[in-house]
Amino acid sequence: MPVQVAIVGAGPSGFYAAAALLQASDDARIDLIEALPTPFGLIRAGVAPDHQSTKGVMRAFARTAQAPRVGFYGNVVLGRDVALDELRGLYDAVVLATGAPRDRPLGIPGADKPGVYGAAAFVGWYNGHPDFCDLDPDLNTRAVAVIGNGNVAIDVARVLVKTPAEMAASDLAQNAAAAIHAAPIENVYLIGRRGPVEAKFTNKELSEMGELADCVPVVDPAQLPAEVAGTMSDRDRRLREKNLATLRAFARRQPDEKRKRVRFVFCAKPVEVLNGARVRGLRLERTHVDGGRAEGTGEIFDIPCGVVISAIGYRMPPLAGVPVDEAGGIVANQDGRVAPGLYAVGWAKRGPVGVIGTNKADGDLVARQIAEDIAPAGRPGGQALEALLRGRGVRWVTFADWRRIEAAEVAAAPPGAPRRKLIRIKDMIEVLDRSPGTAIKS
Ligand code: NAP
Repeated sequence: MPVQVAIVGAGPSGFYAAAALLQASDDARIDLIEALPTPFGLIRAGVAPDHQSTKGVMRAFARTAQAPRVGFYGNVVLGRDVALDELRGLYDAVVLATGAPRDRPLGIPGADKPGVYGAAAFVGWYNGHPDFCDLDPDLNTRAVAVIGNGNVAIDVARVLVKTPAEMAASDLAQNAAAAIHAAPIENVYLIGRRGPVEAKFTNKELSEMGELADCVPVVDPAQLPAEVAGTMSDRDRRLREKNLATLRAFARRQPDEKRKRVRFVFCAKPVEVLNGARVRGLRLERTHVDGGRAEGTGEIFDIPCGVVISAIGYRMPPLAGVPVDEAGGIVANQDGRVAPGLYAVGWAKRGPVGVIGTNKADGDLVARQIAEDIAPAGRPGGQALEALLRGRGVRWVTFADWRRIEAAEVAAAPPGAPRRKLIRIKDMIEVLDRSPGTAIKS
């Protein structure tokens, strides 16, 4: 009797779990249940649109989705179209691969005012995520403050300052491209509450800042320490030294070399967003970093800017029936086990850290755990799910349907670009209704 597994969420962690389950068993049946009509989660809607090579993993995920023992149910929202308890009744095991799609709150005065955007929303907007396609940020400003010193913050800064030509081979959403490229942005401040050594940028992303057509990185040499101090692994020390060397090279650049600047501001903790009719600036407290910890010094200064984007990490939203670890913003779990027959993988399990490949280990582990824990009980799986969804009038999207949506996006791509994204669910469904059943070759 095959084990029936439902994986909720068809992003990287969901796909790695599906692939591991396929490999670990000759007869396991796996259904991926995804809220959007489109698969691939953060690969499509999180990875920067100008980092197309990172998105190549979609090809492997597509092969998994098209394996005979795998089903894809897109446009099916957990808690709206099907309850978690229902899934747990239909399947032997349910794996939550729902990620951490909400912004960690900035939690300073003024942060709830218009003109302040979280990276989940802002990145979702420029990547054509249907939940954020109407964000319509007001980018009519010369200066933007991006809070955070991680790769998401640096992605946001880069996308804001690259030229249309530099973005031509990307899949930046068309509405976002129009808004960003019409914006009079000249300065992007990248704000780190700790120092340059503590910044979490990977060196590839940091170095890219020095190679932009119309933008120069600006670093105050006085903010750079002479060496990487403190106790850490050799690997960490090498990575930090590399970033420091890159920042030293940036500090030698001339701020007026190019039309735009990304200004690195270290040791500055946001304390208030200054608002009038719109955002006027960001108030910061200078910090002193001691043993890796940022301590406020009491010195306050302001950065003038018309938009604030906070890229300070993510958390999961409440999910009915799922115990939450509030402190971590994750599913409460013990090494991925949540409750009998219920598991978590990826950012839902670990929090928002690590790259795409980090999810592979979670997938391998959950496949082992399911093999150890679960004796298949003849649960009906996908057929019963389809009957339930049909009874509720839910229009689910199969993987073959997605291939037709994808083909429409590819056919509409501007020259040099991989696709022109459809950003509204209704437009995706319309593609399917326009050409019902047309087979697309895989
Ligand atoms: P991250 O790497 O954890 O960076 C978050 C940043 O926000 C840190 O600099 C953190 O500072 C700062 N921060 C947190 N709370 C703050 C607050 N209240 N005020 C000011 N600053 C605050 O997270 P991320 O950038 O969201 O990225 C998530 C994961 O995805 C990371 O593992 C990242 O490497 C990965 N990612 C990778 C790529 C890529 O490989 N190209 C692209 C995007 C994302 P502290 O260090 O002081 O806490």
